[in-house]
Amino acid sequence: VTEGPGTADSEALATLHRVFGYDAFRGEQQAVIEHVVAGGDAVVLMPTGGGKSLCYQIPALVRPGTGVVVSPLIALMQDQVDALRALGVRAGFMNSTQDFDERRVVEAEFLAGELDLLYLAPERLRLDATLDLFSRGKISVFAIDEAHCVSQWGHDFRPDYLSLSLLGERWPDVPRIALTATATHATHQEITQRLNLPTARHFVASFDRPNIQYRIVPKADPRKQLLAFLREEHAGDAGIVYCLSRNSVERTAEFLTANGIAAVPYHAGLDAATRAAHQSRFLREDGLVVVATIAFGMGIDKPDVRFVAHLDLPKSIEGYYQETGRAGRDGLPSTAWMTYGLNDVVQQRKLIQSGEGDEAFRRRAAAHLDAMLALCETAQCRRGQLLAYFGQDADAEGCGNCDTCLTPPETWDGTIAAQKVLSTVVRLQRERGQKFGALQIVDILLGKRTGKVIQFDHDQLSVFGIGQDLTEGEWRGVIRQLLAQGLLAVEGEYGTLVLTEASGSVLRREREVPLRKEPKKPTASRSRSAG
Ligand code: ADP
Ligand code: ZN
Repeated sequence: VTEGPGTADSEALATLHRVFGYDAFRGEQQAVIEHVVAGGDAVVLMPTGGGKSLCYQIPALVRPGTGVVVSPLIALMQDQVDALRALGVRAGFMNSTQDFDERRVVEAEFLAGELDLLYLAPERLRLDATLDLFSRGKISVFAIDEAHCVSQWGHDFRPDYLSLSLLGERWPDVPRIALTATATHATHQEITQRLNLPTARHFVASFDRPNIQYRIVPKADPRKQLLAFLREEHAGDAGIVYCLSRNSVERTAEFLTANGIAAVPYHAGLDAATRAAHQSRFLREDGLVVVATIAFGMGIDKPDVRFVAHLDLPKSIEGYYQETGRAGRDGLPSTAWMTYGLNDVVQQRKLIQSGEGDEAFRRRAAAHLDAMLALCETAQCRRGQLLAYFGQDADAEGCGNCDTCLTPPETWDGTIAAQKVLSTVVRLQRERGQKFGALQIVDILLGKRTGKVIQFDHDQLSVFGIGQDLTEGEWRGVIRQLLAQGLLAVEGEYGTLVLTEASGSVLRREREVPLRKEPKKPTASRSRSAG
């Protein structure tokens, strides 16, 4: 359906003013809305906070019928609907938190054409009752929010999303719009293919978040480093601290509280009431810190999150970008701060190896981790690396608002150090059946006669004590960087270090190994207004 010149967009703009009270569209919003109002399918990639909701809310208001929004964020539906109702939008939701009567009311409103927007959990679309209901009413648009959940390789995979391709088959005349903040080429293609959107127009917004300062520091004593970072740069600010395990979430929250910082834990092991209470305190109070696993944050719309800290390495750049993207939605200066160390690398590699999934799955997971490590170890602009990962161009001069731009890291020629590590690994690899990790390598290089060194006669090796020119911390840094560069690998459940195909060229002196110098002081403190 083509509208008369200017009709669709002027109606959209009028709705933006009248209902939402905003002056103008942002970025790609207008183009997306015009396209969907005219009946076209769309795939929309916009960073968190970019304004995805209006891209389907306005078409739902402008086109006749009800806009159906598929979202996995059941816990937020009530809030979303309340917020829309406060603006005078006739919105409702259907999910497992409702009883029969509540659902009946929503169904009746839908059938009577009294709903502008209907939010729905994906699992409801598997029910014949839902599909039957839909065929008896009028639908203006299908919006598929958090569309990356359809990706089997992603960290948010929801099997129910796979059945969403049926929407196009059953309602070929209803436009569909898929939205996500995850934007790698692979995810993008998977969304298009699995949701069966071959003719959709693609709208890709810039993924740069210029107000977020990216910093990655070597891990020494992560909780103390975090405390110093908070005290020096974010006293009294709201923020999120991500940890890998529930246990470390609990201990970190206790540690912060004991040190006078208002902090609450959030992870899937807490009961629903506690989780809801902590989430709502975070949204409503000023300056609360939530210490959480990645279970926390999807769909949270709090504009003044001033920092996101990672005490452990995320599994992928997609995850890192999404989590850090929760900072600074209001556009004001914010910090994405992370500690990262050798153990992160070894542990994550072990997890991939001993984890579930077939060989292809492991290869994908390993590739994700490698990209994340490359970001951690880069001597180049972090923002440039991030944007390049998402296929976008960055300022070749650097961004001026990340740690490597602000304090360019020194590099040194680590070729000889690398050879020492690799030669030690070669000698240990010859001891068939014996598995040694990074700790033993470092002890041997430093010439430490530990119990385990004596037990295996490692003080008799020719490499014993050849590494006394560097400290223990520096050796750990060398090993970490060799792992990140693919010159070393981790094998098996004990985290045994082994050579890779590329190691040979270093041992044969065919290539040099530039390494990043570790800053002397682990925490860099900088004023918040930097950049
Ligand atoms: P996303 O879903 O992409 O993370 P939202 O749709 O939640 O982002 O929008 C983020 C914030 O920006 C919200 O507070 C929203 O009200 C606001 N916003 C979106 N579009 C506009 C606009 N055109 N003008 C002003 N504010 C906007
Ligand atoms: Zn930079």
